[in-house]
Amino acid sequence: MNAKTSSIYHGGCFCGAVHIAVSGEPAAMGFCHCDSCRSWSAAPVNAFTLWPPQAVKVVEGADQVGTFKKTANSLRKWCIVCGGHLFTEHPGWGVTDVYAATIPTFPFKPALHVNYQETKTRMRDGLPKMKDMPAEMGGSGTVLPE
Ligand SMILES: [Zn+2]
Ligand SMILES: [Zn+2]
Repeated sequence: MNAKTSSIYHGGCFCGAVHIAVSGEPAAMGFCHCDSCRSWSAAPVNAFTLWPPQAVKVVEGADQVGTFKKTANSLRKWCIVCGGHLFTEHPGWGVTDVYAATIPTFPFKPALHVNYQETKTRMRDGLPKMKDMPAEMGGSGTVLPE
């Protein structure tokens, strides 16, 4: 193992009852502007980091983790004590989205924006703005102007 793959980033919920650890490097990171992310996060955008599911571990408070499943491809996890959000499993894509704010020591380096057609908050940072999702994740792959 080199230094990169052995990196471990710690995080958790708002109250600290649930502690998570994420190891290695994410497959992708960026911002999602979709209605679901905005509603669930109660924020104008969701800063996402996508990891192989086995890279994400609940190391403390596993019995305090709730799951909400509105659709088959999103299992949303939160702390049942404080209501703080933790991560979302996307089994259809084979990745787990750990919200960047949940792992504060992780060096978040966004590479793209997704679902920009649904944006309420334009972010003119020069990064690609995907209309929906990249083609390899089942989207159109169309890039929109900022
Ligand atoms: Zn909590
Ligand atoms: Zn989203």
